[in-house]
Amino acid sequence: MDFSYSPRTEELRQRVSQFMEEHILPRVRQHKEELEKDIFPVSFMEELKAKAKVQGLWNLFLPSLRDDEPGTRLTNLEYAPLAEIMGRIGWASEVFNCNAPDTGNMELLHMFATPAQREQWLVPLMNGEIRSAFCMTEPDAASSDATNITMSIERVGDEYVINGRKWFITNSGHPNCKIFIVMGKTDPDAESHKQQSMVLVPKDTPGVEIVRNPTVLNAFHHEGHCEILFTNVRVPVSNLLGEEGSGFALAQARLGPGRIHHCMRSIGAAELALELMVERSQQRKTFGKFLHQHGTVGEWIARSRIEIEQARLLVLKAAWMIDNVGAKAARKEISMIKALVPTVHTAVVDRAMQVFGAMGLTPDTPLADHFIWGRCLRYADGPDEVHLQSIARMEIKASQETLGQGSAYLTPPER
Ligand SMILES: Cc1cc2nc3c(=O)[nH]c(=O)nc-3n(C[C@H](O)[C@H](O)[C@H](O)COP(=O)(O)OP(=O)(O)OC[C@H]3O[C@@H](n4cnc5c(N)ncnc54)[C@H](O)[C@@H]3O)c2cc1C
Repeated sequence: MDFSYSPRTEELRQRVSQFMEEHILPRVRQHKEELEKDIFPVSFMEELKAKAKVQGLWNLFLPSLRDDEPGTRLTNLEYAPLAEIMGRIGWASEVFNCNAPDTGNMELLHMFATPAQREQWLVPLMNGEIRSAFCMTEPDAASSDATNITMSIERVGDEYVINGRKWFITNSGHPNCKIFIVMGKTDPDAESHKQQSMVLVPKDTPGVEIVRNPTVLNAFHHEGHCEILFTNVRVPVSNLLGEEGSGFALAQARLGPGRIHHCMRSIGAAELALELMVERSQQRKTFGKFLHQHGTVGEWIARSRIEIEQARLLVLKAAWMIDNVGAKAARKEISMIKALVPTVHTAVVDRAMQVFGAMGLTPDTPLADHFIWGRCLRYADGPDEVHLQSIARMEIKASQETLGQGSAYLTPPER
């Protein structure tokens, strides 16, 4: 496995960094001020998207793009360092049409949409004209386990009738969000992993009601993680994505690339936090010493560097695996990074906040926002514990082929 950046990646890294410095960083203050005034989407988003598109910094995440589709067709390994740069600023990835959950949804539509679904939803998503949301989690069912979901998708003639309640549906409050990919049960009597299906539901379909947009850690996100009620929502059967009963498999297919993108951006957030921590610790003195000269702070800096490097290498390995053996064979690596990286993200940001003193808790640094998002990622796309459980299961299964080999190293007293 070779993780060194190819000349193409190096070139794109420089271009993405330059774009961030010239067009995105100077807008951070304005972004904050507009959100404070409830101006959303911010006034300059479309202008920045148009600039990025003209420069070819667009849809950098989709390796399997067709020749007639806009984008760069990078591998996951090539995309990782670019996503990392975008991750330094929470809203930057949207400028490059590389933001969650649209990326995961585009990947899913790219794999499974019919030509008509493609034309109606994937093309405008790839052009950045609309946004989308993915509706799986339910307030009344522990949705870490997708077999628990209760939403009913019942076929009646040429339509599906949808009833149920979802929540934490990211992006659903975005005014440009036009389409939901909704997971529910078409056959509650089938085998547990074959009960679910996915259907495409335009957001303005009668019966779709956005009930509320809950804050996360008391922070309000304009794009929303909304609670949505579906009451007798009717869509044509042609809105089925994939086949009836394939919802669970489709969810798995979607989450592979989606999870790795979050982790790539988290590395960028942690890297920025470390940079800020290192700078601040050289600017402030207590008890006659710069902060970094206190052993504890020095250790935080060192530990953060070690953890980020470890996390980045594992993310690159997972990216390499997805590129070379596919997301299914990379399941363990994907679970490992998903269980690890948000923890590293929050640990490093937390240390940086502490080094900044009280200022670390204010909106004067990006740290509080990065902390909140890192903490959210410990649930989004599956909580840590579910990934740890999957890794443990795979380890146990693998060990069964070689069971007893480890015991050869034991030296208990002979009886
Ligand atoms: C900011 C944010 C954005 C989100 N965006 C979306 C979205 O766009 N679409 C969507 O459908 N969902 C979204 N989610 C929901 C997310 O996927 C769920 O929160 C997650 O899957 C956990 O489900 P739950 O909240 O129902 O927790 P539950 O399933 O009730 O689990 C509660 C806790 O139980 C523990 N647990 C669960 N399983 C195990 C296990 N096997 N071993 C040990 N402990 C376990 C974990 O600690 C877990 O946190 C989002 C969540 C957040 C926070």
